[in-house]
Order: sequence, then structure tokens, then C-alpha cells
Amino acid sequence: MLSRRNWMAGAAALPAAAQPGGAKNIVIASSNGLDCCNIAMAHICAGKDTLDAVVAGVNVNENDPADDSVGYGGLPNEEGVVELDASVMHGPTRRAGAVASLRNIKNPSKVAKLVMEQTDHIMLVGEGALRFAKAMGFSEENLLTEKSRLAWMVWKRTLRDGRGHSNWSDGLDAPPGKDMAAQFPGVSGELLAYALDRAMYPVTGTINCLALNAKGEMSGCTTTSGLAWKIPGRVGDSPIIGSGLYVDQEVGAAGSTGRGEENIRVAGAHSIVENMRHGMSPKDAVLDVLKRVSRNYNHDKARLNRFDINFYALRKDGAYAGGSLWNGQFRNTGFNSRRFAINDGSGNSRLEDCIFLYERPKA
Ligand code: ASP
Repeated sequence: MLSRRNWMAGAAALPAAAQPGGAKNIVIASSNGLDCCNIAMAHICAGKDTLDAVVAGVNVNENDPADDSVGYGGLPNEEGVVELDASVMHGPTRRAGAVASLRNIKNPSKVAKLVMEQTDHIMLVGEGALRFAKAMGFSEENLLTEKSRLAWMVWKRTLRDGRGHSNWSDGLDAPPGKDMAAQFPGVSGELLAYALDRAMYPVTGTINCLALNAKGEMSGCTTTSGLAWKIPGRVGDSPIIGSGLYVDQEVGAAGSTGRGEENIRVAGAHSIVENMRHGMSPKDAVLDVLKRVSRNYNHDKARLNRFDINFYALRKDGAYAGGSLWNGQFRNTGFNSRRFAINDGSGNSRLEDCIFLYERPKA
């Protein structure tokens, strides 16, 4: 695999200019995807397939224990088990693959790609997805890091009955007056503050990555650990073809991060691609779908203010946009939802501002 450093040497020698027909090398991703876009662009510049490129890109986040919204180190479900969802779409062959509620496998994006390539199905879930991954040679591993285990344990301790009692706190017979720090001896204040924040404001967060190459080929991938503390078996939008991801080689690609339940209700990625098919720019296509999300709440900003959702769109001619419901940073978003990552082949990835539907009121 290409290292983060040496891809630049190869990429710098390659022209980033637009090719005949308007297509050019472009990779976009959610704001946690700066490295992802670097890696994906390096693969594209090296002549690799666009799907291999985006999967290699998102693998950076899946493997990174510091990204607590994706893959290894992702925050677990309410039982402390990490459950991963992912989808891929390959424009040139018009194929798709997905996995949902996959446990113990670090790279669900790779498994989703194998579902696409090696089966006559499109989506495998839960136990079946795990058995398939093992049959394909993946080994099971514990995806819970010490940090994510601690955050889960703190979350459990914050769940209390009307008398303030928690079964996961020290017993009634214990000496009184123990504060949270005393309940977690040996845990640094910084780590405890992180765990408390995640317990109080469960994160959503995901990576979506979309790519176009100079031949006009497109692919996309979305991968996530989903909503922290979710009910086991909960599946969000990320593995749902048409919601978390959609690619139509003739038109463009779209993907999403943020509250998956809202996206599923508007089939966001497919709706954006259809909007572009009918002539909308990527920006207008994204804004239109954000308006549909708002419409589902009768545009009631008090309720809409309780979540955020982001869309990313890449048109076949290289035009692109990122958009979010709100422009203000939402507390429970694991990354900066006001921005998105882009690499146009001219150097390192950069962040650009998302368009937005509403200005978040000051707290
Ligand atoms: N969309 C993901 C889900 O709902 C989470 C996220 O992107 O924040 O599972």
C-alpha cells in the first residue's frame, strides 16, 4: 500500500488538468477524509480503478483508532459491541455491494466490495455477513479500543433511575461520595472528559468518499460504526444503496453522513443523483434534498436542531458540492460537518465549506 508520504512524489508528476469530455480526477469525502482523499487520489493517479481507490482511502479511517465513528475504535452499540455498516458502488459495471451490522471485522468496506464481486447478492447482514467475511479470509478481531470501551462504560454509568441509582456504579454498600473520577481509577482526566462528552452527546460520524477519474469512471464508498450506543441490529443509511451512497456512471455520485434515519426517509443519495440527472447543479441537488429532510418535520427548526445531516455530490463533469442542514457545528458530530474534503490531483487534500440550509441558532 502507498504510504501517506510517498504518494505525493508519484502524484506530483501527473497532470491534474481536465481531460476531453470534461471528466477529471476528483475525490471528495466527508471532513474526516483528508488522508482518505490523498490515498484515493494517489491510487487514481497510479491508474487504479476508482472503486479500489475509494476503498483504499476509507481504509485509513477504518484502521484509525482515533476515528471513533468508523471501523476499529468506532463507538459500540448499547451492549458494547462494535457493529459496522458499509456500502460500495462501482460506476463502470453498475454494481453494488453492502454489509450491515457486521461485527469483529475491521474493514467492512472491503467485505462490501467482495459481496459485490463474489456473490449474486447485494447486501449481507449480521451473522451471515461475518461468516461470509471469514469465508473470504478475514480474521475476527476485537474492534473495541480501551478508549471506546471506557466511553461505553461511562455511558452506562450515566443511565440512572429516578433515585439516581445505576447498576453499573459502585454498590449501595460502598463508601459514599465517590465522584466519576474515583469510579475510574487510573484513567486520565482528559480521557474521562472525552468519555463523558461521548456519553452525554452520542456521536454520529462516518466516512463517505466519491471518486471520478479522467476517463469519466466513478465509484463511491460509505463506511461507519453508525450511531453510538445504538440498539443492537440498528442499521443506518450508510449501507443502504440509494441513501448512504448512490453512483450512476451517466450522471454522478452522492453520499451522506449524519443522522441516517433522516436520510433513509428521503433516499438522499439517489434523490441527489436524480436531481443532477434532471439538470440541477450538485449544490442545488443537495439543497433540494436538505429541504425534503426539513419538510419531513414541517420545517420545525426546534426539532430539526436536534440533529445534523450532510450530503456530498460529485457530477460526472467534475462539479461537486458538500452540504449540511445547519451551518453551525453540532455537538454530537464526530467531525466538522460544515466542511468536506476534496482532492483535485493538484496536491494535498483540502477542506472546503459546505453549503447549508439553515443557520444554527446560538445555544
Ligand atoms: N449516517 C450514519 C448512520 O446513521 C452515521 C453518521 O454518519 O453520522 O449510521
